[in-house]
Amino acid sequence: MLRLFAMYAIASLLPVFALGMVLAHSYRSNAAARGVSEGRTEASLLAQTSVSPLFTGKRLGQQLSDDEIAALQRMSGPAVASGQIVRLAVRNLSGDVLYASDGDTRPDANAGHESDDGEIGEAAHGEVVSLLTRLDADRNPDSPTGARAVEIYQPLLAGPAHRQVGILELYLPYAPIASDVTAGMGALYRDLGIGLGLLWLLLAAISYSATRRLRAQAARNAYLAEHDVLTGLPNRALFQQRVTEATERAVRTGEQVAVAVIDLDRFKEVNDTLGHGNGDALLIELAHRLGDTVGDGNTVARLGGDEFGLVLVNPGDVDDVHSTLTLLRRLLQQEVEVSGLPLAADASIGFALCPDDGTTVDDLLQHADVAMYVAKATHAGVVRYDAGHDHYDSSKLALVGELRRAIAADELVLHYQPKASVSSGDIVAVEALVRWNHPERGLLYPDAFLPIAEQTGIIDSLTRWVLATALAQIDRWGHAVDGLAVAINISARNLARHDFSESVLRALAASGVAPNRLLLEITETALVADPERAGRSLRRLDTAGVRISIDDFGQGQTSLGYLSTLPLHELKIDKSFVLDMLSDQSHAAIVRSVIDLAHNLGFEVVAEGVETEQILDALNALGCDIAQGYLLARPMPADALPAWLGTHRSNAGSAAAAMA
Ligand code: C2E
Ligand code: MG
Ligand code: MG
Repeated sequence: MLRLFAMYAIASLLPVFALGMVLAHSYRSNAAARGVSEGRTEASLLAQTSVSPLFTGKRLGQQLSDDEIAALQRMSGPAVASGQIVRLAVRNLSGDVLYASDGDTRPDANAGHESDDGEIGEAAHGEVVSLLTRLDADRNPDSPTGARAVEIYQPLLAGPAHRQVGILELYLPYAPIASDVTAGMGALYRDLGIGLGLLWLLLAAISYSATRRLRAQAARNAYLAEHDVLTGLPNRALFQQRVTEATERAVRTGEQVAVAVIDLDRFKEVNDTLGHGNGDALLIELAHRLGDTVGDGNTVARLGGDEFGLVLVNPGDVDDVHSTLTLLRRLLQQEVEVSGLPLAADASIGFALCPDDGTTVDDLLQHADVAMYVAKATHAGVVRYDAGHDHYDSSKLALVGELRRAIAADELVLHYQPKASVSSGDIVAVEALVRWNHPERGLLYPDAFLPIAEQTGIIDSLTRWVLATALAQIDRWGHAVDGLAVAINISARNLARHDFSESVLRALAASGVAPNRLLLEITETALVADPERAGRSLRRLDTAGVRISIDDFGQGQTSLGYLSTLPLHELKIDKSFVLDMLSDQSHAAIVRSVIDLAHNLGFEVVAEGVETEQILDALNALGCDIAQGYLLARPMPADALPAWLGTHRSNAGSAAAAMA
């Protein structure tokens, strides 16, 4: 920065200096011209007041009278003696010198001028002529050799008619004028010096601050080019650079490097329903957690949206990387408080190792991405890349057309997960959960394609398909599942449609299924998006006999006042609270209070994510009505349900018999 500034300072000094020179030069020539013009004034005054009155209106002849000469001597003597005048001469109109104060009456000029003919001629025709000249030493012994003088030829006007009778020739010393000019120049140089110096300082100050601002701006631009504005983490560009550096070093030194891609699950839902502000706050918090956890030498970056990247240098073997990333994932799952609401995030993580899975940035990133995609699609959490994964090309899957076609081609399937009464063990309902039986990639879970469906609006036809399929399935099961209700999940975007309730009622009417066998699971966050419209739709459905359940309760910000105005039948406690309620006091407290709250409002409570007997017992003790989870059963294909129900009933029956 100093170099730039010094360059500018020197560069600006030159024009300022040149400007000073020009100003000084023009002042100096003005001063000389002023000197000559002062001389003219003096000569004109002298001619009018002192010389002309000595003559009559007659043209001067070849000689002056003695009286005239005496008068001229009287008049010019003291002025010449005091040095005010160098020489005073009177000429007739032909240029002949009739009188000269120095007695030199030769016709040619007394100064060193080549010839005065021109000037004298002009003066003879009434012109005033003045010029700066150098005195001739031998003609002017009183003056220093080469001294400068102002030489003036002034018409002599006399008589009542002011006729020109002759020419007054006057040499005035230039020295007094010159010393005036010199004194003026001194003051001028000083003022000019100060003025230009200040000007230069001002320019320098402006340039200094401009340079500083530019530097700061450049530094900021450089920072922004490499960092994410929201989280302050390195961005994709810097991430790729770090991966390149790490892999190049690894190839040289034999080090190991792991490259991971972390993608948040269902982040879009948070953004859509709770607003971008809260989405951003969640991202910032998670970014800090990641940044604080990975050690020095490793890099966390935000690759865009809800995707983060990780470079781990020398992370140990595959198992070590796996457990490090699993730990990170747990960290991300820990509740985040955003605007006073507890939010739980989840993430899918894929990783690739250098050199085993690739040695270039492109390979490693693409492989980590594919692995992440597999993690998301298979609910595996953390997945290492495997060449067999390559048919999961995430970008290909993003193709909307494929999903549209999937619905038409019946590639979607519903799996059903039972919900059981906690106290009796009786199955009261099944939840329909959609999967995509992809021809190349196998069974895909909703996290892999629901976000795309929601973004593109395909969710509407998807939900129509789910509803119709589930209702048709009830009919197909027939007596095998007598009395069981089927729950289907409704997206925020479905609920936002003005014809939502009509389309559900139409599907029900078409299927002939009793409305009270249909349960709609709506996430708490979906209700908040447009509470008024949601309220209207739900009331219509309730009037028709359809039951409504609030899914993933505890994640959102629904006010109790609002909830109590809705025609609800069931609250489902989010599985993130249930899964660890025995180890996490605050989650246990949430489960307990949701149960109390739901009962006070007259709703049944479902706990989802029940994986162990201990949790089931704890829920029973708390008075929870219904449990759903892997302990009871994983979601299963429709065909498997009747048989499963059969074994479950006979187990429950034999248990009851054993107790009796
Ligand atoms: P959800 O409605 O909360 O569904 C429960 C999810 O938890 C299911 O995941 C289920 O397989 C899983 N789960 C059940 N028991 C346990 C357990 O004991 N432990 C654990 N860890 N998980 C358990 P799934 O099927 O992947 O569905 C994920 C989400 O996708 C659903 O969450 C729901 O919000 C959405 N979804 C699924 N099917 C549909 C659908 O047809 N339409 C819409 N709009 N959304 C759907
Ligand atoms: Mg559900
Ligand atoms: Mg749920």
